[in-house]
Amino acid sequence: MPRVSRLTTGPVGAPAASVSTVQTKKFSNVPLDAQGRTARLSVVLPPDVMSVSIFVNGKKDSEYLVEHFDSNGQVLTDERPPGVRMPADEFTQNPFDAGPLRSPNRSVVGAFLGKAQFMAPNNPRVALGGGKAEFSVRGFGGSSTATVATPATGAVDIQVQIKRGPKNVVRGRLPLNLYFTGSGGYTAKTAAQSPIIKAALEKLTAAYAAAGIEVGPVTYNAVSPTFAKVSSGAQVQEMFESPAERKGVNLFFVNDLTAVGGTAVGASAGLPGPASNGSLRSGVLIATRDIPITFGSVESGSNALAGPMIHEVGHYLSLFHTADTFMRVEDQLADTSANDTHNVMFPSDTEAPSFSKDQAWVMLRHPAVENFNPR
Ligand SMILES: [Zn+2]
Repeated sequence: MPRVSRLTTGPVGAPAASVSTVQTKKFSNVPLDAQGRTARLSVVLPPDVMSVSIFVNGKKDSEYLVEHFDSNGQVLTDERPPGVRMPADEFTQNPFDAGPLRSPNRSVVGAFLGKAQFMAPNNPRVALGGGKAEFSVRGFGGSSTATVATPATGAVDIQVQIKRGPKNVVRGRLPLNLYFTGSGGYTAKTAAQSPIIKAALEKLTAAYAAAGIEVGPVTYNAVSPTFAKVSSGAQVQEMFESPAERKGVNLFFVNDLTAVGGTAVGASAGLPGPASNGSLRSGVLIATRDIPITFGSVESGSNALAGPMIHEVGHYLSLFHTADTFMRVEDQLADTSANDTHNVMFPSDTEAPSFSKDQAWVMLRHPAVENFNPR
């Protein structure tokens, strides 16, 4: 186990009491049938349910997604979503997730092999109530670029996180844990003193505060320098599993992400990510190869880091891009626009990134965000 050290900074004053809680239900060793599907599994949701998140752990050579979800018989996600018109070639374009992608509550294959994630509601037009909810998971062998879906075999482990609390929350708190590999000269110690990191965190904090989410406390931690050079998804998973359990979102600062299919600057291993990492272990990756600690100016260096940090944490909290042209879809939020280059979830670099009201609505329901009443 790599050595973990930590320094902590936090918000000033006593934190407000939390009004939300998260309960966990586990389904172990659930078998897949000949089509790679689990049976319908069910959970009973309490009347004060805010959101349900489903995390799937399967075999490392297969892809998975939550293919079906319904609440009191109302179908929110399905392979053939009722009432949704699909483009004629949709099943050729997206053989793995055509229906779930265009369902009222979108679901997509996991970002990394062997995992899948899902949260409902992930837009304000979806109604989730107390009562029986049913879901199923499907797995595929091989890669998503294949045009024929080969069913996955074996079994999966599933963890359901049920978030409870008031319906109309407007405030939340998100602990942030920063993990440094030494990449770019950033170690737990140098990063805590870096004006670039300090300014980047101020930008991130301001963007989330505008959405009603207080970021903090922020912890600075070290992970083994052997993780700096990212070479495979399996190695990333090993890095995620190396630190001690801590509440909130974990951000790992590494060299670059091209080996795991990320962009040059960032990647979220979960859309959404889990609440507390526990046995799930996930996180956000930030590349510092091109933004070393000695970067020319604090302003440009912190902008280059803050943009991906704000964007990738947005993915972790269940936000999709405002538009994904390769999937031919826009997000399902009414108040975002595909062309708004200032929106945090615009697919490429944004200037002065900000969230829309609906995006804040979604993030406030994520299980990693603890809600509290306005002071
Ligand atoms: Zn993105």
